[in-house]
Amino acid sequence: MKGLILEATWEPKKGYEVTDWEKKTGKAVTGSSVWRNPNLAVKEKKDPEIGPSDVRIEIKACGVCGSDIHFYETDDQGYILYPGLTRFPCIIGHEFAGRVAECGKAVADLKNGDPVTVEEMIWCGYCNPCRNGFPNHCINLEELGFTVDGAFAEQIAVGAKYCWKVDKILERFGDEKGYEVAALSEPSSVAYNGMFERAGGFRPGAFVAVFGTGPIGLAAVGLAAAGGAGKIVAFEVSEARRALASKVGAEHVYDPKDTAAHEALLEHSDGEGFDFMVEAAGAPHLTIPEMEKALAINGKIVQIGRAAQKVPMYLEAFQVRRGQVFGAQGHSGHATFPNVVRLVASGRLDLSPIITARFGLDEAKQAIGRCTERCDGKIMVKP
Ligand SMILES: [Zn+2]
Ligand SMILES: [Zn+2]
Repeated sequence: MKGLILEATWEPKKGYEVTDWEKKTGKAVTGSSVWRNPNLAVKEKKDPEIGPSDVRIEIKACGVCGSDIHFYETDDQGYILYPGLTRFPCIIGHEFAGRVAECGKAVADLKNGDPVTVEEMIWCGYCNPCRNGFPNHCINLEELGFTVDGAFAEQIAVGAKYCWKVDKILERFGDEKGYEVAALSEPSSVAYNGMFERAGGFRPGAFVAVFGTGPIGLAAVGLAAAGGAGKIVAFEVSEARRALASKVGAEHVYDPKDTAAHEALLEHSDGEGFDFMVEAAGAPHLTIPEMEKALAINGKIVQIGRAAQKVPMYLEAFQVRRGQVFGAQGHSGHATFPNVVRLVASGRLDLSPIITARFGLDEAKQAIGRCTERCDGKIMVKP
């Protein structure tokens, strides 16, 4: 089969201390400090083989993610920009849906032909965080498209326990569009996990602000609408993405370079502030200071965007306004994937307008290149 393989050289930056665990596993904890001179190419690879608890899936659609861009772009020394857990070479791509083509002997809940989407996080189920109910914090984590073969490919083999059926999504959207929409389940589940699992959600009628409307922020806007927000305001620097935010449910969308976010939020709430604010910009040093100036009493902030930097916070604001900040990562557990699938199948969460371009598998590298322009919503690769 064909797949988009990322190869890179293991060459830790000066000052990066490689741990025994990294040596043993071949996984870099901070990829951007270890992997140099990445090379992406569609190549032939042996068809994936399944174990007794696995399924083989024919991939129908796989979205390009910000992290894929960070494998493609490098710093001035030629290191990848992605700062997370990685082991190469591997096939990248992790936001996907497809059709089950083969089931292992022990697989009971899936059969050939079932349409599924799949968690990206291959949590072990045995470590203490997993056993305690926190699979998003698994210490033996493997990640599809980061440490093991992912889904910019014709096929993938994964454990059946990471798959969720999406037949109801296909019933609503049809086969062609249905698989693309189902492939949005992974980023949507990241937003859902942050908003509803970690931060505990908001009450219907609450005022919700979303900072940054890349694909995760767009999903947050859609989820805020589906969850009954009384008003949704978004901030985004890209004009094209501002237009998409309006399409999926934001009533007011601003360029934060032109408008001070806290002023807009105070105006839209008659001075009371916003109840629930989502950081999906990955620029908390800029967004959190705005949020804390527009925090309603009992307000919540959830950090979903990634940024390896310290943030100035005025904690007095959180005391006086009874505020809370939540850190969120991942998408597994807590009924998150199945609830997202239900919302999409019901039509209450329709993110289909955010899919703005499609490429074949042979053009997967070009698809990622196009993403570096950061003017699209979600780009799909369709093998
Ligand atoms: Zn992603
Ligand atoms: Zn675990």
